[in-house]
Amino acid sequence: MAETIRKIALGELELDRPFVIAGPCSAESREQVLTTADALAAGGIRVFRSGVWKPRTKPGGFEGAGSEAFAWLQEARERTGMKLCTEVATAAHVEEALKAGMDLLWIGARTTANPFAVQELSDALRGTEIPVLVKNPINPDIDLWCGAIERLSGAGLRNIGIIHRGFSSYERNLYRNLPLWHIPIEMKRRYPEITLLCDPSHMGGSREWVAPLAQQALDLMYDGLMIESHCHPECALSDARQQLTPSELFAVIHRLVVRDDARVPDGIGLLREQIDELDSELVALLAKRQRLSNEIGDWKIAHNMPVLQSGRYREIIERLSALASKQGLDPAYVTAIMETIHRESIRQQMKQQEEVESAKA
Ligand code: PEP
Ligand code: MN
Repeated sequence: MAETIRKIALGELELDRPFVIAGPCSAESREQVLTTADALAAGGIRVFRSGVWKPRTKPGGFEGAGSEAFAWLQEARERTGMKLCTEVATAAHVEEALKAGMDLLWIGARTTANPFAVQELSDALRGTEIPVLVKNPINPDIDLWCGAIERLSGAGLRNIGIIHRGFSSYERNLYRNLPLWHIPIEMKRRYPEITLLCDPSHMGGSREWVAPLAQQALDLMYDGLMIESHCHPECALSDARQQLTPSELFAVIHRLVVRDDARVPDGIGLLREQIDELDSELVALLAKRQRLSNEIGDWKIAHNMPVLQSGRYREIIERLSALASKQGLDPAYVTAIMETIHRESIRQQMKQQEEVESAKA
């Protein structure tokens, strides 16, 4: 299976490194598409991305312009010569995108996570040779990602690449989606020839993260990048915070350092990156715990309860010591951490009470 996956080919296009696909999150209007495409093409971008149908977490948001957008994209291609790339999530999307002559397709993170949908897409794509880029599933399940590639290649597709856009997490983190770099690196081990792109826009979720994440990806020998760019990011109907203007994008690309030697963090580097991500999650969890503890503080004030509830504290320590033993940790170590956390909770709740007292006085 791995040997059937080759670097993607885009007709006569040389895929130099980094190979950059850029364009807005969504095609919003003819004017927005053409203005953005003209600027990107003028700066040397050769593949234009834009969502025609947008998967939105909640209903009520902008769900894409739909098939009407294909005419704007075709016009952009006629003017600029750029290839066109859009997202498909259903067999009907595939049919329309092929009819409209899209040059590349991508499968979004939510769709990759759904084997029924991926099979439906694979069946609809059977018999075509269009390049398909598969984003990682939103959850960090590498076999699900491989499964999507196998379904597509099982339908006879050979032009398959992957896009690493990060993995969602319950906790609020520095990044919108956790990179978990070891997962795409393992994908490269499983499919050595596969084209690997990074999408620092969805990974970072904010424009200031695009440059450092893109550099990190290049240092890991990724083949290229998919970056969101919009002529007026602040007015974007989706993902406004993470899009760059075309000139900001060129500044980012210009500053990227392309090295030939893989800086793939081996053993310790990769492990340290995972430790750093876990530490960030720990801090996010501590912040969340403190917010809850402050809510409890308010409740104690409202119900005239003392801050310190020693029975409750004993219960917490006993429960966590037992859990620590089960997980192979020293209960004394976990107790010491919990004491520190508890001390801070109490300090904060005392402060809350003092503030209420002094407001009364
Ligand atoms: C997108 O590329 O605009 C998109 C919806 O991406 P993802 O599937 O990575 O969230
Ligand atoms: Mn987007």
